Amino acid sequence: MIKEKITEIRSELPPEVKLVAVSKFHPVEAIQEAYAAGQRAFGENRPQEFCRKVAEIDAWLRGRDSEIDVEWHFIGHLQTNKLKMVLPYADLVQSVDSQHLLDAIQDWGKANGKVIRVLLELHIGAEETKSGFKEEEVLDILFRADKYKNIRFCGLMGMASHTDNEDDIRADFARIADFKAYLTDLFPELADFKELSIGMSGDWKIALDYGATIVRIGTAIFGERLQTP
Ligand SMILES: *Cc1c(COP(=O)(O)O)cnc(C)c1O
Repeated sequence: MIKEKITEIRSELPPEVKLVAVSKFHPVEAIQEAYAAGQRAFGENRPQEFCRKVAEIDAWLRGRDSEIDVEWHFIGHLQTNKLKMVLPYADLVQSVDSQHLLDAIQDWGKANGKVIRVLLELHIGAEETKSGFKEEEVLDILFRADKYKNIRFCGLMGMASHTDNEDDIRADFARIADFKAYLTDLFPELADFKELSIGMSGDWKIALDYGATIVRIGTAIFGERLQTP
């Protein structure tokens, strides 16, 4: 089941687009099944669940004498008192959504001798409740990017409005794609600022029209979650 879903989605994704399988709220067995189908990038949104699953999958792979070839994406709200559950293991923190968090990640990176790869989350959807920076806040941060020695700015993440209206979704994706192009022009020195993480189960095919380089897909791979985050 999981295998078929992954194969189906992969067959429609251009090879250069990264599929992050969002395994939040699903058991490690589901991750193992996805791994067996060739999936290597996983996304989680709660620090505790994230670090538990990283440890369990690591142990599972070691037990099979496999190399540790999975990558972990953190995609949820991250409180600064939980950094140590996430930053040692995350290949990419996709959901940096405040100046305070960014500063805390910089401090943690400096103290631990690590460079943390991040995406800045841009607020694009209609929902007030959605987190993320405004365009001018992202600009303000990137003008000061060289101050963040322990952070590598790798691009933008965004979530479209939660709606069935495709025009609204397209407008959200167009806005983030245009802004990303503008930033790429404005900051040519940010060589790693390449990723555009847009598209979830309901809208990833649309996101491809707007240059998504990463899609984050949960339900369409693993089925319904028992709880909603
Ligand atoms: C849960 C989640 C997803 C995956 O959502 P689905 O609709 O299940 O594909 C993607 N991105 C973020 C930030 C999420 O929290």
